[in-house]
This record gives sequence, C-alpha cells and structure tokens, in this order.
Amino acid sequence: MAESASRSTNFIRKIIDQDLASGKHTMVHTRFPPEPNGYLHIGHAKSIVLNFGIAGDYQGTCNLRFDDTNPLKESMEYVSAIKADVRWLGYEWEGKERYSSDYFDALHGFAVELIEKGLAYVDFSPQEVIRELRGTLKEPGKNSPYRDTSVAENLAEFAKMTAGEYPEGHCSLRAKIDMASPFMCMRDPIIYRIRHVHHHQTADKWCVYPMYDFTHCISDALEGITHSLCTLEFQDNRRLYDWVLDNISIPCHPQQIEFSRLNLEYTVMSKRKLNLLVTDNYVSGWDDPRMPTIAGLRRRGYTPGSIREFAHRIGVTKMDNMVEMGILESCIRDDLNENAPRSLAVLDPVKVVIENFAEGSTETLQSPNHPNNDAMGTRDVPFTRELYIEREDFREEANKKFKRLVLGKEVRLRNAYVIKAERVEKDANGEITTIFCSYDPETLGVDPADGRKVKGVIHWVSAEHGVPAEIRLYDRLFSIPNPGAAETLDEALNPDSLIVMNGFVEPSLAKAEPEQGFQFERMGYFCLDSKDSSAEKLVFNRTVDLRDSWAKIAD
Ligand code: ATP
Ligand code: MG
Repeated sequence: MAESASRSTNFIRKIIDQDLASGKHTMVHTRFPPEPNGYLHIGHAKSIVLNFGIAGDYQGTCNLRFDDTNPLKESMEYVSAIKADVRWLGYEWEGKERYSSDYFDALHGFAVELIEKGLAYVDFSPQEVIRELRGTLKEPGKNSPYRDTSVAENLAEFAKMTAGEYPEGHCSLRAKIDMASPFMCMRDPIIYRIRHVHHHQTADKWCVYPMYDFTHCISDALEGITHSLCTLEFQDNRRLYDWVLDNISIPCHPQQIEFSRLNLEYTVMSKRKLNLLVTDNYVSGWDDPRMPTIAGLRRRGYTPGSIREFAHRIGVTKMDNMVEMGILESCIRDDLNENAPRSLAVLDPVKVVIENFAEGSTETLQSPNHPNNDAMGTRDVPFTRELYIEREDFREEANKKFKRLVLGKEVRLRNAYVIKAERVEKDANGEITTIFCSYDPETLGVDPADGRKVKGVIHWVSAEHGVPAEIRLYDRLFSIPNPGAAETLDEALNPDSLIVMNGFVEPSLAKAEPEQGFQFERMGYFCLDSKDSSAEKLVFNRTVDLRDSWAKIAD
C-alpha cells in the first residue's frame, strides 16, 4: 500500500509555513512528550505521526521527552515500551531521549526566580481551603492569606520544602497570577508540591516535584522547541504556558498549538481505563491483541505503515469527533490485501478422504503467493488422499446459493482439483466425521474437459502434512460504539471478542515469522502470535476480516 504520499496539509502545517516564510523560525523543532504511566495507544500514534511527520517533512527534528513529574504512577517498564513503540512506528528522535526530570535543577531555579520577583508564594492552606478559595467558573476566587508573604520568607519556606522539612501536603508553591481570572488555571496555580517518593530517574534527590503546567513549557523552551503541539484540553492552559515563559529568564518561547484528540469507536483511550482492563484481567496484558495500544495492534498484525496511513487519513483539526473503527480496519486490510502472501488454513476441520487418490502418496502442487503479484512467487503445497476442509463448507443438502461442497456435487479445491462428495460417515451423535470424495485428475488448473461447470472454490489442507495450530479469532473488545460513556466496562464488553479455534495450516506456515501477516484464503488476515507461538504449538491471531462484517450488521 502506498502511504498517502501527497499529505493533505492541515492548519498546523499552515502556521509552520507562515513562520518559515516570515522568518520567525528557520527550522522546525517539535517534540512528543508522553507520560511514562502506561503504554502508548492509537491516540498517541496520531500525535507521534503529527510531531515526527512534521519534523521529517520540514527537515527539522523531533525530541522524545518523558514527562515524568508524577513518579508515583510512572515506571521504567513504560519508558522502555514507549521507546520501542515509537521506533516500531518508524521514527527516531533527536539525540538521546529526554526527561522532564533532566530539568529539575533548572525548574527549581526558575521557581526561585518567580519567588524573587514576587510572583510565587508558599501556601500553607490545607488542600480543601485552596480548592474553596479558587472560586467557580461563575465566581472569582479569593486571595489566600499567604499571598502577601514577603519574598525573603517565601524563599526560606521554599528552601525548607525542598530540604524535606515538611510532610506531604503541608504546603505548596503557587504562582501569583490572578484569582479573578476567567481561566481557572490562572487562579494562582500550584507549581510545586511535596512528594516524599523515589523517582525512576532522579532516585531520592528530590522531595518536591514541579507540576505539569510549570514543567512542560519550560522543558519545551529549554529544548528550543518551535511548535509545541498538544490536544485541545490544554487550550485554556496556554495562558499559563505563556505566563510562565514571559516571567522567567529564558530566551526561547515556543508556540503552543492545540488539535483535537483521537476518539475511536468501540474502544477506550484513557490510560486509566486501559490500565483497569489489564489489572482486572479483562485482557491478557497491555499487548493483548484487542487493546488499542501500539503493542496490542502490533501483536494483532497491524503494520507500522497501516497505522501511519490511519493517522494521515483521519487528518488533524480542532474539531472533536469520533472516528469509525472501520477506518482503522480498512487501513490494515488495504495493506495486507496488497502485501500479505496467501495461504490455506482450516479453522474448524472436517476430514475428507479422496478414495481414488493413491494411499500414502503426496503430490506437490505449486500455488501463487499472490493472485495479482507474480513477483511474490509461488510455494509448494502438498496434496494427499486425506485432507481437511472447513466444516461449514460442506452440506448434505443445499440450494444453489451454497457454492461449496454438497453431497453428490462437485467443488474446486483452491489451486488444486475438482472433487465430488460421494458419501459421509457420522459418529453416534450424528456429527459428520468423514466426507468420502472422488477427484477428477484432469482438472488441475483447468476446467473439466466435458464443459460441465463447477462454481464453488473452497480451501483445504493436507491432513498428513498440515500443521495443527491454535487460531485466535479476535474481534472488537467492546460491543458498543462509545464504551467510555458506559457506567462500567463490564456492560460494554463484547463477550465474543476472542474465540479460539484448533485447526490446521498448510506446512509452509510453520516457517512464518512472528507478526508476519498472511491472508488465510476466504478466512481473513492472520499473523503468527509473537508471544505464545512456538515450534511445538503454532498460534495465529486474526488481524481483520476480509470484509467489514460490522458494516453489514449496522446496515
Ligand atoms: P491520559 O489522559 O489517558 O493519561 P495523556 O494525554 O495524559 O493520556 P500523555 O502520555 O500525556 O497521555 O500523552 C502524550 C502526548 O500524546 C500528548 O501530547 C497528548 O496530547 C497526546 N495524546 C494523548 N492521547 C491522545 C489522543 N487520544 N489523540 C491525540 N493525541 C493524544
Ligand atoms: Mg498527559
């Protein structure tokens, strides 16, 4: 699949074009700033493709910066996973990865500068009082009794906070801005708080940690970011972003630009909820193939190109909306339709015995790997007296619409011969155990010579050479379009999001590489599971159906 080569422009690219044309900037420098408190999801992919994509297209650079000001919820496991995911998506950041915590010394210095300028104060009011005095959207806030403490006293108190002389929650450092501002974030926001916790980067050096709004703008400026792209919920906070940079001695002032976050139907994107799915064992982990995480999509069989293509197709705007799951699915379907080798796998097998085929002999047939691309070559597929076909592909009786195998009638086996069902054998429960057939040896790759028409084609696997495989049929994790709005995750879950089949795959699939995608002819697109598959037990994951089966349901 050719990734959208001529990328449609967007309002952010227009701003950048203007900034370059006016000489405001000579180069573009963006950043992707994840908090290492969970795995990256498809929403982050939108931001990654935007930030790294812009840097790439404008010959600029993009930093990877871990926004690690909240050590309690963060971990190195997430740091490593995020780095791996960004690289897998096809991007490389400028230099070493950075951490907001790299700047804790500088940030502390800027906090002291604000105190010295009379623009920050240590507030000993309890949390509830601070909240109370902040006011509401309709009513202005009220000044804290600590607002007019002298600079000298604030410096001394902040030093004590930093030295660990106070317990958590005893006091905090607040910016002195405007308690009557229509923007709540400007009503003397807390910029430093006490946390007696170990940090994954700075260990036990600090017991005061800067707040996100204070940290983010300064980190951007220290790194020389030109355009700081973030999601719309930070629109109001832009006032604070600019206020901080306007009031400290820092030469650089990045421009914050907001865009709408990705919301995707049939899934949740909040890290808190994703975390809950993992910790409450609704899924097998962050990389469960049903998760909207990059790791989950990857394990499911999505390719990096298909995710980048998705980000291009949905575009970047300021409008909040809900993207249809079908758009994501069509991106991987288009990719695999073009690039995935075809192969044969029977998910729900029933035995076929071809009575006029010599016992114990194997005929090696050549099958094209792709119907429209000869360059993908051919593979050997063994044909034997005993085969498996899909149980649902046989009926003892059926009308003309059923173009598969029917008792007394003929069907073509994919890339092989025409066979005719002669009789069946059943077990005590009436379940068919074997379908006895005959084959027409003159029909390999050609229609029957006498002109009789054989309509249907079904897939098959040699019973002797086929390899047993567990085949996991994944579907959407949630059965309603907006599970985020449901009272509980339970009531929104799709009970059939995973169905496990024990089938047989053609022998060439035993050499499949983890995550490599295949079309199992007539059954969908599948990949070898990267975690649970082994030489002893092959495991394949369904990536996506051949067609959008949910669209049919919606109709
Ligand atoms: P959550 O609120 O669930 O914890 P977050 O937005 O805080 O998610 P971060 O790790 O801080 O997650 O996000 C890193 C970057 O990715 C931010 O710039 C953020 O705006 C962006 N991002 C996060 N979620 C989405 C989304 N759904 N669509 C687009 N961008 C997103
Ligand atoms: Mg965040």
